[in-house]
Amino acid sequence: MNYDKENIFAKILNGEIPCEKVFENDYVLSFKDINPKAKIHLLIIPKEPFLDISDFLHNADTLYQTNFWKSVDEIIAVLELRDKGFQIKSHKGKDGGQEVFHFHLHILSDA
Ligand code: AMP
Repeated sequence: MNYDKENIFAKILNGEIPCEKVFENDYVLSFKDINPKAKIHLLIIPKEPFLDISDFLHNADTLYQTNFWKSVDEIIAVLELRDKGFQIKSHKGKDGGQEVFHFHLHILSDA
């Protein structure tokens, strides 16, 4: 499967579709999941077009991966979840339950 530039998260990134933004820097955008499964349910997406977590881990360069995970850590700190607790999930592929084919992390917490 190739990356589809018309996917919903690509449209959120280019401003075609609105989102409830929580955090943004040069590497990531984070916004509230439209159908929350916990008290806090955010999505974190890279600004670069990766299909899924495997594409990201295999093809993103080391510096971009570092900046991505540092951004995840910063979002967790901003939300004050470091001490309270959270889950991170990423669905990969149709058999993994992935619906939107732009790599994203789910951050869930009942804090
Ligand atoms: P998955 O690809 O399985 O990780 O699921 C995609 C997630 O994106 C689901 O939890 C949806 O509720 C969420 N979602 C879909 N469209 C939007 C949107 N426009 N804004 C925020 N979240 C969305």
